[in-house]
Amino acid sequence: MAVRMCPHCKTEISASISAARSNDIECPKCEARLEVASGSRTISTLCGLAAGTIAWRLSRGSSSDLGGVLPTLYAFLAFGIVSPLVLMFTANLRNAPAIPVSIPAQAGVHDAHGAAGHGSDHH
Ligand SMILES: [Zn+2]
Repeated sequence: MAVRMCPHCKTEISASISAARSNDIECPKCEARLEVASGSRTISTLCGLAAGTIAWRLSRGSSSDLGGVLPTLYAFLAFGIVSPLVLMFTANLRNAPAIPVSIPAQAGVHDAHGAAGHGSDHH
């Protein structure tokens, strides 16, 4: 089974965190921004849909009185339960795309006064 780990410091990230906040996870140790790889989200959604469909068919075959309502409810519940579960077990973490504004320096710091300074003043 896939273990959710921070790709930076190999810290294990608990399944509940990755399921609850799959779009924006922070590594508890090194505070790297992580996200669940989109592939696992697709898988979990598909499994949820499949479960919903199955639930819908099963409940539709059995009940006759509340025919229209219950199957939809069951399908909805099945999707809501299965999808996050699958996500918890399949999720792979990857680095989240860096926030555009605060790109960690490394570029820029050294050049800070190379470009602007040293203006040759005319006489
Ligand atoms: Zn980390």
